[in-house]
Amino acid sequence: MSASPSSSASPAILWFRNDLRLEDNAALHAASEGKTLPVYVLDDEAAGRWAVGAAGRWWLHHSLKALAEALRRLGSGLLLLRGRAETLIPQLAREIGAAAVHAATLAAPWARQRDAAIAKALQAGGRRLELHDSSLVRPDVVVTGQGKPYSVYTPFARAVMKLGDPPPPIPAPRRLDGVKAPTGGISLDDLALLPRRPEPDWAAGFSSLWQPGEAGARDQLQRFLNDALAEYPDGRNRPGEDGSSRLSPHLHWGEISARQVWHAVRESEAPASAADTFLKEIIWREFSHNILWHHPGLPEAPLRPEYTQFPYNRNIEAQRAWQRGRTGYPIVDAGMRQLWRLGWMHNRVRMIVASLFVKHLLQPWQDGEAWFWDTLVDADLGNNSFNWQWVAGSGADASPFFRIFNPVLQGEKFDPKGEYVRTFVPELAQLPDRWLHRPWEAPAEVLREAGVTLGETYPEPIVDHATGRARALEALAAMKARAG
Ligand SMILES: Cc1cc2nc3c(=O)[nH]c(=O)nc-3n(C[C@H](O)[C@H](O)[C@H](O)COP(=O)(O)OP(=O)(O)OC[C@H]3O[C@@H](n4cnc5c(N)ncnc54)[C@H](O)[C@@H]3O)c2cc1C
Repeated sequence: MSASPSSSASPAILWFRNDLRLEDNAALHAASEGKTLPVYVLDDEAAGRWAVGAAGRWWLHHSLKALAEALRRLGSGLLLLRGRAETLIPQLAREIGAAAVHAATLAAPWARQRDAAIAKALQAGGRRLELHDSSLVRPDVVVTGQGKPYSVYTPFARAVMKLGDPPPPIPAPRRLDGVKAPTGGISLDDLALLPRRPEPDWAAGFSSLWQPGEAGARDQLQRFLNDALAEYPDGRNRPGEDGSSRLSPHLHWGEISARQVWHAVRESEAPASAADTFLKEIIWREFSHNILWHHPGLPEAPLRPEYTQFPYNRNIEAQRAWQRGRTGYPIVDAGMRQLWRLGWMHNRVRMIVASLFVKHLLQPWQDGEAWFWDTLVDADLGNNSFNWQWVAGSGADASPFFRIFNPVLQGEKFDPKGEYVRTFVPELAQLPDRWLHRPWEAPAEVLREAGVTLGETYPEPIVDHATGRARALEALAAMKARAG
């Protein structure tokens, strides 16, 4: 038997998705006006190929654990379910007689379709789905003078800056009036999010760097404000240093909101120019989400139609070498191994490894996007697909394809002392700085003294830079000829 939604004291469901926090949570704020049942649903089926990847699952496990503990401290709990939310959420609403389901808006196309279906199902029973926006600016708010979505970042950022500071964050509630959860909930372990034996525990190193959850997000923000924000304009480009915020997984999982970060940065003592440089990166995130909102095909297909004609040449062996950090380009290999070891990679290096993949190796950007999706703890549908298309030259406001990074010069410029490469490619650690980013040019004696045997202890370059560059430009010309 199901309860009626019409009684004045009807409870609400608080459906957590990518908003795993109590502070500045508009959905929680709305739901907590009466009795509330917090729930999380692992819905791989609806997400299809964009179901949370392996590294993301590690993060999600720990973040849900932290969230459940925080909710318990408020007098509530967290119901965990696995299956189709389209069935489970309306069913749960019926069972507890909820009048409303509150959740944060999601930009992923599959989630928007699912939300529309759930809203309809709830409506049929006299209930409602209330979506709360937690972005800095709603996608339909910042539009051009002609009322169209922006496709170029700079005017978009200018328009966002012109709006001034976003509304101040909403404090977390002091208490939650819980509802007894119906049976059917499962334990966190039953969600089976962590690597399972006999699989090797590839996530073993993650906890050396990360503390998933709202408290971890707050600490990370504080560390960044204290130690790195003032130097951010230069520091963010040096992968061997802690120069960027490392807030991306916390932001992706909504353990902290962009508005909270914005206000904390504005209130910090860092020079205004450093604060603005950082906030412009936060606006890149908004821009990517905005593009995904207006172009739901972004994760799968090039935004510039001529790029469907690009002559990629899928080569699984080359992809494996790239994935494993064995391309023979030290900065690329360091990045790919950082990704594997820590579930994260520095932004500058993401651009370098993606460029090598798409341009020197002519691999489809969608394959690189898929690898990142599975291995990044911050894998985010908007940011990932937007940035892969940016590198591939096929996206909105993308980097022109003919700008091809030289991985040696990039390494020498941004890791001149080699701290980054030596950390992640220890077999090259003994090489002098001069040869570290170009070991194949080092004299035989230098290699011998450093214990490096090319082709054995460390690979030769997978493709010579000049050859790879020329091949990439030929491919671009072929695409242009095909597309007319
Ligand atoms: C090929 C490629 C794939 C990427 N995939 C992702 C992804 O899946 N998830 C993700 O969060 N970021 C992605 N990025 C963007 C960027 O690399 C990361 O956001 C950044 O490295 C995170 O480190 P940080 O938090 O220290 O960044 P900071 O420099 O401290 O920046 C602060 C925040 O701004 C946002 N941001 C910064 N740069 C970008 C950008 N270029 N695009 C969108 N948002 C940005 C992030 O939320 C970041 O946490 C990708 C970049 C490339 C080149």
